[in-house]
Amino acid sequence: MQRILSEKAYNEAVEYIPGGVNSPVRALRSVGVAPLFVQSAYEDMFTDIDGHQYIDFCLSWGVFILGHGNKKVNASAINAIANGSSFGIPTLVETELAKMVVQAVPSIEKVRFVSSGTEAVMSALRLARGFTGRRIVIKFDGCYHGHSDSMLVSAGSGVAQLGQSSSAGVPAEFAKLTISLPFNDLNAVKSVFARQGNAIAAIILEPVPANMGVIIPQTGFLEGLREITTHYGALLIFDEVISGFRLGLGGAQEIWQVIPDLTTIGKIVGGGFPAAAFGGKKEIMDQLAPLGSVYQAGTLSGNPVAMHAGIETIKQLLEPGFYTQLEQKTTAFVAELCKLTKNKGIVIQQMGSMFTLFFSQHELKNYDDVKKIDTARFSIFFQKLVAQGVYFSPSPFEANFISITHTDAHLNHTLKAVESALRN
Ligand SMILES: *Cc1c(COP(=O)(O)O)cnc(C)c1O
Repeated sequence: MQRILSEKAYNEAVEYIPGGVNSPVRALRSVGVAPLFVQSAYEDMFTDIDGHQYIDFCLSWGVFILGHGNKKVNASAINAIANGSSFGIPTLVETELAKMVVQAVPSIEKVRFVSSGTEAVMSALRLARGFTGRRIVIKFDGCYHGHSDSMLVSAGSGVAQLGQSSSAGVPAEFAKLTISLPFNDLNAVKSVFARQGNAIAAIILEPVPANMGVIIPQTGFLEGLREITTHYGALLIFDEVISGFRLGLGGAQEIWQVIPDLTTIGKIVGGGFPAAAFGGKKEIMDQLAPLGSVYQAGTLSGNPVAMHAGIETIKQLLEPGFYTQLEQKTTAFVAELCKLTKNKGIVIQQMGSMFTLFFSQHELKNYDDVKKIDTARFSIFFQKLVAQGVYFSPSPFEANFISITHTDAHLNHTLKAVESALRN
């Protein structure tokens, strides 16, 4: 498949934009494909500037649960723009979306909107430190929480070791305040708390990790984290930037009935526009300026265009049976995928409408397992799918997403493409 215009566009982009992209994974380096430039997208497909069409399983990293170009969401955003697109003055829609989020997400009593998931996480961590008066945060290897300094840390060699930065430009003094542990390993968490429990401000995690591929929390893991944090007076933060409004209206916390102190959401909540949020218990959230002493702000925070799009998106998610239908669609598709991939060194892990096809012999429960997958095989697989008009998330360590607009015909085409991609 020739992509002459994309190639030309990329060659020009690299002259002006580092690596030609505004977020590194878009350069498709790890999958050996030249970057695609998008012309347009509608429902479950996008078209590149060379006119090729692709069935989209990335959906702007999970944003478009309603598919691209939802007419009501677009109309709502366009109407909003006609009245002015940003003021730096409160608008009614901010409270309207805040109310919807508070009603939907069990842990959120008050919420503040920001413009990206990175910002939501950064703010939630500052708030947790401000509220507890403590410095250390615990995260888990392979979970992604955006690119703020304290989250760009991977584990040291030993469980007890303090973190090392995974990016240049993060001072070692910052990285030292983050401890990264293996997901699903409650004992590792317990032993860190036993040693320095009263210095730990918070544990942050993706309750169902999607950024190392879909990993399922083992029985008792989330509950255990809730117990330990409560016992030591640390906060539990669920980063539901992907899982929020994806696994259900209340995210993973509603499914597991484990209620964190703070929650971050993003992606779906902005309806395709830059919005994210963090929220939680009133007594914690009220520590934010102007009420409290934890500073946080944003020129475009609560942007009315994004708020309108978010409201219209959630309205459609509230329709009875939405999530059941989406999950059934995914489960049926994944069942067929499992048949096709049997005895081929492939494991498929699914939660709700997200799934990852891992090139692995065994079930995966943490980042150590994920690191052992066959990434070279994934690259070839990805390339063969792209050539057949199927766009999976372009990394062996990511989740794929299904939207309510994915048609049976397109899912069947995808199954055929997978079968053919695995044939030789
Ligand atoms: C995408 C993501 C983020 C970062 O959000 P941005 O809007 O890209 O800054 C944070 N946490 C999780 C779990 C994410 O999936």
